Amino acid sequence: MIPYGRQDISQADIDAVVEVLRSDFLTQGPVVPLFEQSLAKKVGADFAVAVNSATSALHLAVSSLGLGKGDLLWTSPITFVASSNCALYCGADVDFVDIDPDSFNMCPVALKKKFEEAEAKGKLPKIIVPVHMCGQSPKADEIAKLARSYGVKIVEDASHAIGAKYQGKYVGDCRFSDITVFSFHPVKIITSAEGGLATTNDPELAQKMALLRSHGITRDPSLMTHESHGPWYYQQVDLGYNYRMTEMQAALGLSQLSRLDEFVARRNVLAKNYGSLLVDLPVKTPVIHREAYSAFHLYVIRLQLNKIRRSHKEVFERLRTNGVGANLHYIPIHTQPYYRTLGFSDGDFPLSEQYYNEAISIPLYPGLSKESQSWLVNMLRDAIV
Ligand SMILES: *Cc1c(COP(=O)(O)O)cnc(C)c1O
Repeated sequence: MIPYGRQDISQADIDAVVEVLRSDFLTQGPVVPLFEQSLAKKVGADFAVAVNSATSALHLAVSSLGLGKGDLLWTSPITFVASSNCALYCGADVDFVDIDPDSFNMCPVALKKKFEEAEAKGKLPKIIVPVHMCGQSPKADEIAKLARSYGVKIVEDASHAIGAKYQGKYVGDCRFSDITVFSFHPVKIITSAEGGLATTNDPELAQKMALLRSHGITRDPSLMTHESHGPWYYQQVDLGYNYRMTEMQAALGLSQLSRLDEFVARRNVLAKNYGSLLVDLPVKTPVIHREAYSAFHLYVIRLQLNKIRRSHKEVFERLRTNGVGANLHYIPIHTQPYYRTLGFSDGDFPLSEQYYNEAISIPLYPGLSKESQSWLVNMLRDAIV
């Protein structure tokens, strides 16, 4: 089976991890801060806080922005459940904004309409979470302008999009948001096995996230409520978690970071090749906005079902039977059983549901060869006709 995504691990990556294993610190050593500084510099943000997953990073991001009971967070339905679960962890409520069918990202037009309705009802969200679906930035400038005009905070879920650019600048510089979150799960663009990170330009948010990452405990006298008792002393000044990243993870992430641009360039080459190979098939290929440079975490095609005799499910099953690890990103969150218990139902977000009925993620990762792509497209042709 050719998987839909796969990590690319070099000898240098392995050496970096082994070096940490032989060093004094497996956790809370020098490599995590080095990874944070290198990544912040790379994407053009002032601060970076590394944690054990993007899920944790999202939780810290919304917590540090003060999300709590009675508050509301909006994201789009076509994303991983972590994008909205972060609100539920804080006791807040969730709602969704439907997608733009070309980019599968939060639609700015739908967002504008929803803001107007929400303002009239006095039910504005505290935070919105635009997702960089498949590695492509949403229209971040338009979204930021709208959200800021209503005093709403923005957390970008850029789990798919490290190394991507918008208007020529790296995603993660937070010029259109308060905080940006990345994931380093092995299927993503660069990996630390498990891992995530939040960037921000706000020193207070950075400090708050760093505090919450490790139990809400500080050794910094300037953050304490009274004078330190002595060299052993620390204070718990907030209720935090253990979301720390290990030194091995940071070493792997740091080593992978040096190949970030190479990985993204390779993914773009392969995506372009898919574009040519798929041209005569009844599928819609990804549309990339002219101001976006996608990291191409995923290559999602949409079946033109009116031109195909088989069903979406049949095409999918035939691909899997023939060794193509096709996947589907994502099941609209509002249709998940847990979310149904919160009051959502079918028909709430029709464009997301239509997307779900047509979408297939086909394999894309740096180690994929062009020969494999040709083979994959032939398998798709066979599966469709
Ligand atoms: C992968 C992913 C996450 C969660 O990442 P983890 O590092 O596995 O916690 C969150 N949001 C999106 C959009 C993702 O793709």
